[in-house]
Amino acid sequence: MAISRQVAEQIAASSWIRRMFEEAEALRRGGAVVYDFTLGNPRIEPPECFREALLETVRAELPGKHGYMPNAGLQETRETAAVYLSREQGVSLDGRHVIMTCGAAGAMNVALKSLLNPGDEVLVSAPYFVDYGAYAANHGGRLKAVAAGPDFDLDLQALARAISPRTAALLINSPNNPTGRVYPEATVRDLGVMLETRSREVGRTVYLVSDEPYRKLVYDGLEVPSMMAAYRHSVVVTSYSKDLSIPGERIGLAVVHPEAEDCGQLLAAMSVCNRILGFVNAPVLMQRVAARLQGQSVDIEVYRRNRDALYRGLREGGYEVAKPQGAFYLFPEAPGGDDVEFVEALRAEGVLAVPSRGFGLTGYFRLAYCVDPETITRALPAFERAIAPYRRRG
Ligand code: PLP
Repeated sequence: MAISRQVAEQIAASSWIRRMFEEAEALRRGGAVVYDFTLGNPRIEPPECFREALLETVRAELPGKHGYMPNAGLQETRETAAVYLSREQGVSLDGRHVIMTCGAAGAMNVALKSLLNPGDEVLVSAPYFVDYGAYAANHGGRLKAVAAGPDFDLDLQALARAISPRTAALLINSPNNPTGRVYPEATVRDLGVMLETRSREVGRTVYLVSDEPYRKLVYDGLEVPSMMAAYRHSVVVTSYSKDLSIPGERIGLAVVHPEAEDCGQLLAAMSVCNRILGFVNAPVLMQRVAARLQGQSVDIEVYRRNRDALYRGLREGGYEVAKPQGAFYLFPEAPGGDDVEFVEALRAEGVLAVPSRGFGLTGYFRLAYCVDPETITRALPAFERAIAPYRRRG
């Protein structure tokens, strides 16, 4: 076999999300009516300010506009982002602390490559974004999942117990994919204290890597508490993928807490990793555009209305589901308890969803509601048909 055993295993265990997405494509090609809730690929077009900034950037006469640059990115973009991030995170940052990357995914790989030694562990709270496993393995690490607590909040005691001298990092994601949970202020504060304590006890600084691409997609006036304000050994990774609806443009960033004891070294490492992972630097055109769009986002009211319509419809149909606080995912319990079986039942009715075992947990399924509102309206009767046999049984 020409390909590596590790990659062959990763293909075999291939992401449920992609598998279901590809199935949807095949069904569509066959002419079937499908209600596709599989992929977190925003259907809303980018805001007008993105189009304007892009056009102006393309037209601007700048010498060497398309050339290589320092691996960490354009100085101007890093500085503008630092001003915005300082306000957002409540920590005083400057351009040196920011590295422009190919999305949050690129940023996580850069951070993990910089932090991990062979055999090191990366802790996550399950359910989690499935590619985290591959990101840890890419750099010789191993993912160690700890089940979330009630309401999918972090289980701090279980996380504390899971920390050992092998733990290089805790990777968290709020607003969360797949649950839509935003970790409350008290949890974040206690998490910082727990990480300080456990790092001291095990004799190794456990880095907090906070994956925040959904930070601006929160509803009902909620604010996402700052991870950096809670813990100084932290790296925030994020992107413009979801809030500007431009995931295909591959633009994001990583920011290191200025008071982290290894801040300078870590930034130097991350800059080199951006290069040697083959990214070299983040796309230059998008760096220029991003510099002009700090704090901007699509109209999140569209997602809020989708969330409310789908949540209400599912509850009325007899589904058990918590109301998500952010991102664009719903995570209902699978009627009957078997997520794969129930996703099959949904598929038979033309609804495509992802079973929760794709996120390291059984018994639930994920619906991405970044879809046309009409998809929701039309799909609700199909959701009712899918649950009907389970209601009769129950
Ligand atoms: N992290 C989470 C939790 C995600 O859901 C995604 C994409 O769906 C990513 C990271 C990757 O985002 P990006 O497009 O910024 O690389």
